[in-house]
Amino acid sequence: MSTVLTHALRRSGLWFRRASPSGRSFEVAARHVRLYSGPLRPNKKPLLDKNSGTILGVTAGLLLGGFYVSHLENAPETGRRRFMAVSKQQEDFLRQQALQDTLRQFQGRILPIHHPLTQEVRRITRRIITASNLGYLEGEATHADPESTALFDPWAEIMHMPGSEIPRSPTMHPEKEWTVLVVDDRNFVNAFAAPGLVCVSTGIMPVAKNEEGLAAVIGHEIGHVAMRHSAEQLSQSKLLFPVMGLLALLGVDFGISSVLANLLHSLPHSRALETEADIVGLKLMSRACYDPGAAPRFFEDMSRLEEGNNIPTFLRTHPQTSERIAHLKTLLPESYNIYQSNPECAKLEDMRRRGYIKRVSRDVRTGAVF
Ligand SMILES: [Zn+2]
Repeated sequence: MSTVLTHALRRSGLWFRRASPSGRSFEVAARHVRLYSGPLRPNKKPLLDKNSGTILGVTAGLLLGGFYVSHLENAPETGRRRFMAVSKQQEDFLRQQALQDTLRQFQGRILPIHHPLTQEVRRITRRIITASNLGYLEGEATHADPESTALFDPWAEIMHMPGSEIPRSPTMHPEKEWTVLVVDDRNFVNAFAAPGLVCVSTGIMPVAKNEEGLAAVIGHEIGHVAMRHSAEQLSQSKLLFPVMGLLALLGVDFGISSVLANLLHSLPHSRALETEADIVGLKLMSRACYDPGAAPRFFEDMSRLEEGNNIPTFLRTHPQTSERIAHLKTLLPESYNIYQSNPECAKLEDMRRRGYIKRVSRDVRTGAVF
């Protein structure tokens, strides 16, 4: 339980010690015991009588309910109803916090900016955020600077696609600066993003295999940011502790309520966010002229890594990989439409057809171009 809640309960007199049958004492936050079962401390009167307790519980419930309903909104892209209660300042703070935590956690293992793998991840990230006009890389000009990259990369010609369908939010806009970090850890198969931060481990590169596989990973992670998932999770936590406190007042054991909240809310919610990031990630990579078919191919390779991992769906933070692959495949026709409607992709396809350029595919493990 949070120390804030514990402190508040202690101060209000709602938190007290009770002797267990084994003689060890343990603490309970159970207002109802004193309200409805008589005082446990012989010399201390209950703070509130039964009616006052009921009024307090109902009032707190109504206030929380009103707060929840007044902060509901439809998520862009999917229309999912979601609870969002954070300010722009708090979202900016999330970026700083995520960056500091990542730098601290992986201290000494972050590849330098000029390392070929960092350059590869920066290039893919640049291409994805440029195509959807979502910002620029730290240390680069605000807008695409052809002089800086065109000599080495024909894809640098990709400019943002007009009529963006990618949601605009405080975390995603043309002036947003992005930091790209690559963690050198072959045993850490992971990638994550926060507003303005993309972090990829070298451990995921053998699974991603090539540039398009890595674009599927990065597209998914930027999809989380586009949909403001970290802000949504912060909003949820603002509601969770008061609800847990209220349930404790009503007599629900804190341990039981936290297990139920996890199974009935947090885990399904986390899976819904993953599905949403898959949807948006596919759009982002398609707009950047990456073959969207690379996304289900990546998860097929991931599923081979996960063989023998038989955790049931309801206990997972992520959907079953087989379900993700099937879902991504249903989205492919729309993704290929997005790809083909980007004039830059068509131009590149035309140049390729005429033999002016080859399809550039790099092996992200070795940097080899083929
Ligand atoms: Zn994810």
